[in-house]
Amino acid sequence: MTAQDTDIAIIGAGPVGLFAVFEAGMLKMRCHVIDSLEAVGGQCAALYPEKPIYDIPGFPKIGAQDLIDNLAKQAEPFGPTYLLDQQVVELAPEGSGFRLKTGNGTTIKAKAVLIAAGAGAFGPNRPPLAGLAAYEGKSVFYLVRRREDFRGKRVVIAGGGDSAVDWTLSLAEIAARVMVVHRRDKFRAAPESAAKLAQLAKSGAIDLVVPYQLDGLEGADGKLSAVLVKDLDGKTRRLDADVLLPFFGLAMELGPIANWGMALQKGHLVVDPATMATSIPGIFAIGDIAAYPGKLKLILTGFAEAAAAAHAVYARLHPDTPLHFEYSTTKGVPG
Ligand SMILES: Cc1cc2nc3c(=O)[nH]c(=O)nc-3n(C[C@H](O)[C@H](O)[C@H](O)COP(=O)(O)OP(=O)(O)OC[C@H]3O[C@@H](n4cnc5c(N)ncnc54)[C@H](O)[C@@H]3O)c2cc1C
Repeated sequence: MTAQDTDIAIIGAGPVGLFAVFEAGMLKMRCHVIDSLEAVGGQCAALYPEKPIYDIPGFPKIGAQDLIDNLAKQAEPFGPTYLLDQQVVELAPEGSGFRLKTGNGTTIKAKAVLIAAGAGAFGPNRPPLAGLAAYEGKSVFYLVRRREDFRGKRVVIAGGGDSAVDWTLSLAEIAARVMVVHRRDKFRAAPESAAKLAQLAKSGAIDLVVPYQLDGLEGADGKLSAVLVKDLDGKTRRLDADVLLPFFGLAMELGPIANWGMALQKGHLVVDPATMATSIPGIFAIGDIAAYPGKLKLILTGFAEAAAAAHAVYARLHPDTPLHFEYSTTKGVPG
């Protein structure tokens, strides 16, 4: 696969990575933005989309998802390329720049790298089941991309939160059978959804397998034939199934970033706060992942860091053309 060329590869499409697209764009630098999540927005979109934020300058109150939508709109005139649903797994110097590789094989050649990776890449919490990897993407899924794929299937849903309950209610309409495995008999979902779940179970439309935990998988070549579950006393049950959907929330892990050779401090990248440069020339870090004395882990801090980093990247990419500083009110934005 040929590499995609860009000026700046931004790792992380959280609020800070998104604003960096704007700041880089104002200095006429093109960006590729890569995120392991399927949608932009980082913690704001993944963890608290409906919560109001009160400390974004100029917005007395703004919903977290609304802030993300605005940031994406602000970045839009600069035409960023988003590579979503893929983690950056490799970063290595190449020539005067860098080569990055993502989990699905995409390669990007960038003149500079801006790491806006927050607390690390988001990924699903995986149940500790032997042989799980062979089934992932074939009959074990951590999210529902196409509801229709589950029509007529025997589906085991594991978990006790909103995703587990909402997908049970939805798939019960089209699946051959839905079995819900949870280690408690109480569900942490919206009260009306939990009530509907109880109703469906009472009418026999779904099976509540509680209090049970996942214990094993049976099948061959990634094709599931049964899910084994066990209760607190060790009593086991075998659920004939075609599909398992574990909904145990998201985990964040620094992951491969820790192996790229930059100076770290308690899981954060050490930077020079004047430029946001890491210990490797050409690689900069901003937002929650960046550490320096007095660092405040706030979105507004990350915004200022994005501006500082964009100017530092410009100076690196254009050593012979000093930047003539202009306000946005003077320059305007494209389009
Ligand atoms: C419940 C809650 C409430 C909060 N309230 C406020 C508030 O009121 N005000 C405030 O200022 N802050 C608040 N915060 C903190 C705020 O959300 C963070 O400071 C902010 O999200 C940091 O932005 P970021 O862009 O640096 O990182 P993040 O939002 O964490 O985004 C980083 C992104 O990088 C991606 N990533 C990481 N590694 C890789 C990789 N190797 N490859 C691909 N992608 C990768 C991740 O998937 C993620 O999407 C709150 C946080 C929480 C959890």
